[in-house]
Amino acid sequence: MNKPIASLSLDLDNKWSYMKTHGDAGWESFPSYLDVVVPRILKFLKERNFKITFFIVGQDAALEKNSEAIAQISNAGHEIGNHSFNHEPWLHLYSKEELTEEFEKTEKALEKVTGRIPKGFRGPGYSLSPTVLEVLAERGYEYDCSTLPTYIGPLARAYYFLASPNMSAEEKEKRKKLFGKFSDGFQSLKPYKWQIGEKSLVEIPVTTLPIFKVPIHASYVIYLSTFSKLAAKTYWKTAIQMCKMTGTPLSLLLHPLDFLSGEDAPELKFFPAMNLPIEKKLEFVSEILENFAKSFSIGNMREHANFVKSEKTLVREFAEA
Ligand SMILES: [Zn+2]
Repeated sequence: MNKPIASLSLDLDNKWSYMKTHGDAGWESFPSYLDVVVPRILKFLKERNFKITFFIVGQDAALEKNSEAIAQISNAGHEIGNHSFNHEPWLHLYSKEELTEEFEKTEKALEKVTGRIPKGFRGPGYSLSPTVLEVLAERGYEYDCSTLPTYIGPLARAYYFLASPNMSAEEKEKRKKLFGKFSDGFQSLKPYKWQIGEKSLVEIPVTTLPIFKVPIHASYVIYLSTFSKLAAKTYWKTAIQMCKMTGTPLSLLLHPLDFLSGEDAPELKFFPAMNLPIEKKLEFVSEILENFAKSFSIGNMREHANFVKSEKTLVREFAEA
């Protein structure tokens, strides 16, 4: 029997964007770990024969110091996606003009380095609005994957505010919708199509645990493994089983921190699971991805979107909750 299709992507958030989100000084010079982490990720993917999508931040592509690492990604045959220019998780507050500029700058920077123009988009912090969809459709994008159907968004945000005591009221206001609303949990886990005027766009949500809608992306599972490896593996296998049972096509998400330890990026050593030695971390990521590949045929996001396009799927219009 043919294995059902699933997709794998990586949000190439750079060191500076973590520092910026956390409110740490020094991010303004855009410190980068791409020269360390990109070759490591590419080697890992090659050894397992995975071809995935990298969502890249335009600001990184625009800087000379990152050109080589980013070019390596497309040379290795992975898809290049747009992850915004400034990596600000409040794109839903941008006007149409601001969004158009944001997209244009990112596309230009990516094209210059990789020779390719992205066809897919993931907003930072899962931010999405009708205007974002409108601009994507106008610019010829084929798919979006900025939704994370989860109930725990407000919880994650509360934790984030607690962990950032120096934030001003204005900064907090901007981050009001960070990580989403409780009602995001009622969003579909299965891919669908947005109807935007005459045009349509495929939406591939980041998969969360069916029914419970708890995140299952690698970072969460790795974090869980620091408490109990057995619990983390059981959780992972249960998630895969539940997706199979409910016919949920998986789209899984990776991050650079899944391939880094505190030694590689001392500024980020307070982040979850950054205390794990790198060999242990890579071994665990390898185990969960190999388990995933046993049940699914893994491709990049564009392949997944093309498959959705060819199928009869739900068509939706964006309504602000
Ligand atoms: Zn990101």
